[in-house]
Amino acid sequence: MQRTFSIIKPDAVRRNLIGHINQIIESSNLNILASKKIYLTKIQAETFYEVHKGRPFFESLVKFMTSGAVQVQVLEGEDAVANYRKIMGATNPAEAEEGTIRKLYAESIEANSVHGSDSEENAKIEISFFFSGSELV
Ligand code: ATP
Ligand code: MG
Repeated sequence: MQRTFSIIKPDAVRRNLIGHINQIIESSNLNILASKKIYLTKIQAETFYEVHKGRPFFESLVKFMTSGAVQVQVLEGEDAVANYRKIMGATNPAEAEEGTIRKLYAESIEANSVHGSDSEENAKIEISFFFSGSELV
């Protein structure tokens, strides 16, 4: 069993897609251990996407991620990191496979509806950034 971290991004929360996205997650052998709706602060969004600092899309990305509420979640299942990345689909929805969350719901390469950790190590860092141990059940 492995855990991963997910964000349902502001574009999807705004369009009432939390339930639709979680239906795909739950029917893909992933359990939702924790889930809460929050507003990211500018500093949280900058820290979260720090690896992209200096890229041309960084400032716009931070603005987008703080433009509305997000749903942060911890998912658990076999190969959760890779499994969730697969059902999310490619970063650019134009390149995402049929049936993936981004193919179904993303508005653009920026407003692409979901985040998922890209490694088990980053999953641990991201989970502890938003959740305390007692919230994971
Ligand atoms: P995430 O980290 O959100 O799960 P990802 O790992 O698929 O997405 P990254 O390369 O880490 O993709 O980019 C982080 C986020 O930055 C993307 O999900 C998207 O919202 C935004 N982004 C990435 N590339 C671009 C781009 N070329 N133009 C605009 N926004 C972009
Ligand atoms: Mg990424």
